[in-house]
Amino acid sequence: MDGPGCAADEDPQVCRRQQACGALWPLHQLEARSGEQVTQTRLFPFLRIVEAVEIQMGQGQLALADRHLVGFKHGVGGTFDAPAHAQCLQDMARQRGLASAQIAVQFDQCITRMGQGEQGAGQPAGKGLGIGLTVPDRAFYNGRMKGRTLRDDHQLVSSIREWARELGFSQIGVAGVDLSSAEPGLAAWLAAGFHGEMDYMARHGMKRARPAELLPGTVSVITARMDYLPAHTEADWAARELSRIDQSGQAVVSVYARGRDYHRVLRSRLSSLSARIAGQVQGLGHRAFTDSAPVLEVELAARSGLGWRGKHTLLLNRDAGSMFFLGEIFVDMALPATEPIATHCGTCSACLDVCPTQAIVAPYRLDARRCISYLTIEHASAIPEPLRPMIGNRIYGCDDCQLVCPWNKYAQRSTLADFDPRPDLTAPDLLTLWSWSEEEFLRRTEGSAIRRIGHERWLRNLAVALGNALAGNPAHADQIRSALGQRLDHPSDLVREHVRWALAR
Ligand code: SF4
Ligand code: SF4
Repeated sequence: MDGPGCAADEDPQVCRRQQACGALWPLHQLEARSGEQVTQTRLFPFLRIVEAVEIQMGQGQLALADRHLVGFKHGVGGTFDAPAHAQCLQDMARQRGLASAQIAVQFDQCITRMGQGEQGAGQPAGKGLGIGLTVPDRAFYNGRMKGRTLRDDHQLVSSIREWARELGFSQIGVAGVDLSSAEPGLAAWLAAGFHGEMDYMARHGMKRARPAELLPGTVSVITARMDYLPAHTEADWAARELSRIDQSGQAVVSVYARGRDYHRVLRSRLSSLSARIAGQVQGLGHRAFTDSAPVLEVELAARSGLGWRGKHTLLLNRDAGSMFFLGEIFVDMALPATEPIATHCGTCSACLDVCPTQAIVAPYRLDARRCISYLTIEHASAIPEPLRPMIGNRIYGCDDCQLVCPWNKYAQRSTLADFDPRPDLTAPDLLTLWSWSEEEFLRRTEGSAIRRIGHERWLRNLAVALGNALAGNPAHADQIRSALGQRLDHPSDLVREHVRWALAR
């Protein structure tokens, strides 16, 4: 075949190949008829059915000859604006052994050929893009008409990287939306009850693994990574953090939570990035997520090459360890996916060995119900008694499995002041934090992620840490007992029960 018009022009080779493939039967029959019938019904024709189209170039196809291949954004579907329709096509593709059916931008039959001087609907690609496709002024995706001009998508991704850097992001990747191979693992994790009280995870079910269900129309996910170690972090920071765990009068707050609420920081910067991309891509549908929706963040980040999933289940990066936040922008534009990278945990098991509660029940498998991060932040009710002694003085989150990870010697400092630690939270004294009234708690944690857990859970966590301090028989034990006793009549059952437990230590 000698041009990109292919099926739109009813190229016999393409039609034959698609029929022979039969992968998406019966849709290929529509393809063979080139959509004549459906246009009569005022619906746009199904065009591209196959996953990939080979394009041979004849002599003189200069724009194509440079690359000898063409990034041909095409897909199946597009006639109906219904997420169910798109999902159905994905399922059909999977059943027939295809990796995925890309539901991508789909052009109508106005696709024209480069160099033939056709004007009007088609516009030639810009010089130097190395792509010979021309596209119509109007294209549709899942039934929506959009103005769109052809770009070099690789160039666009490069631009997104530059803009992201300006906004404080450390790395950008692009993932597709077919996470079907992650679904069995997610289902097994949920079935084992490892999500604990995070009911929303079970409630959303497989939607977490299906971006196009979460945001209909999504065909690519732009993944972003943002380092969060404060700018002035010392070289021996990990050892210093580990030593805090042995100082029983001190409270330990996870490193990421000592500065400004990362949800806010990432959300606003992802929004700025989205707006910048939308400024370049007319009619772009997009939505940013940061730990705020049922999104398989680590899975998407790993698939897009931001790192690999470590045995502790967090994302690891060779140049940045794991001390970073993740965010995503779902877009209804097919972008070239970035390549995943190999895992580099090797025979190491430091994170499994150090975990105080044995929450990493097997490599790459976390029982959140045992994880201190979950217990002190997400878990709303009483902390299971057998786990309380293991929590030590960690009052908000836990970094242990990251602190011992050898890759974190490469953890990067943030360029943003947002993550600089608040003095109140860097090396706080347990009794000082315990003395905060609710009003003081709200005031001092304004703009911090800690505020989300509320004063009641805050006191619950502190009571556990104070009880653990008492168990070490410290010199100021009487002072701790007295302080705990002052909250024995706290209005919350939860707090009172934890105070009684602490005093019994
Ligand atoms: S955060 Fe702490 S409790 Fe959770 S898995 Fe890591 S080491 Fe274990
Ligand atoms: S501590 Fe070792 S096993 Fe665990 S994530 Fe790091 S490299 Fe992998």
